[in-house]
Amino acid sequence: MGGNEMKYIQHAFDTNWIAPAGDNIAGFEQDFGNFLGVKAVAALTSGTAALHLALRLINIRQGDEVLVQTHTHIATVNPITYQCATPILIDSEPETWNMSPEMLEKAIKDRIAKGKKPKAIIPVHLYGMPAKIEEIMAIAKQYDIPVVEDAAESLGAKINGKHTGTFGTMGVFSFNGNKIITTSGGGALVSNEPEYCQKATFLATQARDEAPHYQHSEIGYNYRMSNIVAGIGRGQMEVLDKRIAARRANFDFYTQELANLPVSFVKEPEGFFANRWLTTILTDSYEQREKIRLALAAENIESRPLWKLMHLQPVFKDVPAYTNGVSEDLFNRGLCLPSGSNLTDADKERIVGVIKGCF
Ligand SMILES: *Cc1c(COP(=O)(O)O)cnc(C)c1O
Repeated sequence: MGGNEMKYIQHAFDTNWIAPAGDNIAGFEQDFGNFLGVKAVAALTSGTAALHLALRLINIRQGDEVLVQTHTHIATVNPITYQCATPILIDSEPETWNMSPEMLEKAIKDRIAKGKKPKAIIPVHLYGMPAKIEEIMAIAKQYDIPVVEDAAESLGAKINGKHTGTFGTMGVFSFNGNKIITTSGGGALVSNEPEYCQKATFLATQARDEAPHYQHSEIGYNYRMSNIVAGIGRGQMEVLDKRIAARRANFDFYTQELANLPVSFVKEPEGFFANRWLTTILTDSYEQREKIRLALAAENIESRPLWKLMHLQPVFKDVPAYTNGVSEDLFNRGLCLPSGSNLTDADKERIVGVIKGCF
């Protein structure tokens, strides 16, 4: 926590708005929108809820196909299934590790040839590295398919000064406990078309019609962020820049210390700015990756392989996938290193000491 969160929580208590309504929600939405330079924000209970609402808002329904990055956390894909639609999984390109524009276009053409045009594209800015979103947007425009950006891990990441999450029709963020800022649990939907956020807020509060009694013409959800949680968010916004600097400093430390070893890092392409939410390394082989992971574990240091690909998940075994081998290779050889904003120099020295000892 940054320090001022309790001040905003106290404000919620002082004004007695212990509810999914109140000043903190409006204040947090304002601060968040200003930071991103986006027109509208809807504060919600989670990033997953934000993705679900985004798909509802562009009318994804039973039988529809949604193109989504296979190299991601399952939270990106689950909301597609909540709408009874079918995920179509797309492989990565090696530079950013995110959705390959080439594979995306190949998949679109193939799905159209098979008789169905995909209804949405969900690229992910995984680990805080922006995807090649400008190329993806160009393809989306050509085929007239809306884009929902999963920016859950990339708050603060930019391309030529423009924030991830603000390129697509809508963008989604998460304030889960493990993200770069946290409200314990929370999320946001953002858009430069304010009607989307208005409608999201409406659906997130049980889709209640304007009437003196409770009246509903649509099915809604209970997805609105609480005023207490939003107070944590307001405090966290004050330290977001510091958190990004700390994550980037972790990355710089690891790259310097491990420079002479056969491990590589994802570099920022020209104009890209990553928040370095997690520092990830690529080793020479699966065996080498496991050797490092187990050596760290033996010292009670947690690390984790990259997110297991969606097309390799038992639950999605029958889902169509357009793969090129890139993400599977990354999954076999990649490792997420300890990346907390509060890692001390001594912590980091200890971590690189163990890694160096593996060579
Ligand atoms: C965390 C995360 C989400 C989901 O956010 P929650 O707030 O945990 O629901 C979605 N996508 C990615 C890539 C994430 O890392």
